[in-house]
Amino acid sequence: MRRINEAAGRAGAAIRDLQPRRGDSPFAASRPSPTRRHSVGSQRHSGYSASKEGKESPTSSRPSKPTLSYHGPFAAELLPAASAAARAAYEATLSMTNDELQQLAELVAAAHCDRSTYLSTEAWQFGTTAYAIPGNEVCADCGSSEPPTWAAMVGEADAVLVCNECCGGHRALGVHLSAPLSLKMDRWSDEKRQRLLSSGNRAVNATLEAHAAAAQCKPSSEADVSAKHVFVRSKYERRAFAAEGDGELLPSTPPGRRCAGGAPQQVHAGILIVRLIRAHDLIAADFTGKSDPYVKATCGKAKSKTRVIRRTLSPEWNEVLRLNVEDVRDVLMLQVKDSDTIGSSPLGDCSLNLAELRPNHGTELSLELQNVRSGRLVAEVTWCPLDG
Ligand SMILES: [Zn+2]
Repeated sequence: MRRINEAAGRAGAAIRDLQPRRGDSPFAASRPSPTRRHSVGSQRHSGYSASKEGKESPTSSRPSKPTLSYHGPFAAELLPAASAAARAAYEATLSMTNDELQQLAELVAAAHCDRSTYLSTEAWQFGTTAYAIPGNEVCADCGSSEPPTWAAMVGEADAVLVCNECCGGHRALGVHLSAPLSLKMDRWSDEKRQRLLSSGNRAVNATLEAHAAAAQCKPSSEADVSAKHVFVRSKYERRAFAAEGDGELLPSTPPGRRCAGGAPQQVHAGILIVRLIRAHDLIAADFTGKSDPYVKATCGKAKSKTRVIRRTLSPEWNEVLRLNVEDVRDVLMLQVKDSDTIGSSPLGDCSLNLAELRPNHGTELSLELQNVRSGRLVAEVTWCPLDG
């Protein structure tokens, strides 16, 4: 009961601190709130529904209270596996009034749950659950209130949510200490899901920031990226702020250092998500007047390709490719090719500077293919820089 009250207080504080905004909500309220200022967005992805409890409800003797029920496809698999803390945060919504519930729905939708920025509806549902865990609404390392979109697998069995900038520090630690995964764009194994749901920022920080010096050394969300990285390294690599730690920050280290194991650091600038949607007016490469097109995407050393669609000049791939980008100055090259038993022949290409893309937002582009008589390629490109 104490944890439920605590979670309710946390949700209430969040409502008071932040202005609700429009968004795509996983909650559907049973009745419109007369005081709400914005409407909740499309409910086609709805997983939750709120309804006023009637006498038939066995869960409460207070008929005036709203209740939330989850009927999404992942409920049966994930909710039982969620930590007590996550369930407590969820159950805390049971004690809210409908107005509060509505505001919370809008808040959650706007802050964390814009469905269009997630790889899939399932990823979006999982992200929603992850944010319900105490402490996960802000970055574990700098406290930034921007919704943290990266999860770092730390220690033996823990996971924290962190912001873009702190995630860069986690990447530099090496995968033996911290392995970041994107909440929005990565595919998650069941084991990692369980790990995130049974851990959380507050629980991990209770251990790794137990030292009295942690509060003074912890960077603010406004701090320099390098200061955040120094803190991350001190906190996770040296456990300097655990109860037994020395409470001291490491001196700054230039990029490119070698990690404890001696392996060279792999520094990534970010992840490029390219959804190849379709192409049209492609040239014919076969004598039958058709082509067997696929797309090869290249950015620096990273490359990936779609499957081949047979015998068409208007292929629809609707396929997502992910490229780990090492240098923000790299150019994304998209080459449409015809698959042939003896190799491939070009059907046109196009390129894109990452600097032209708005970070962390999907941009749908219709690109004219170059070096060819005709053809356009339609793609959605999302650039996720690791350092903001
Ligand atoms: Zn941060």
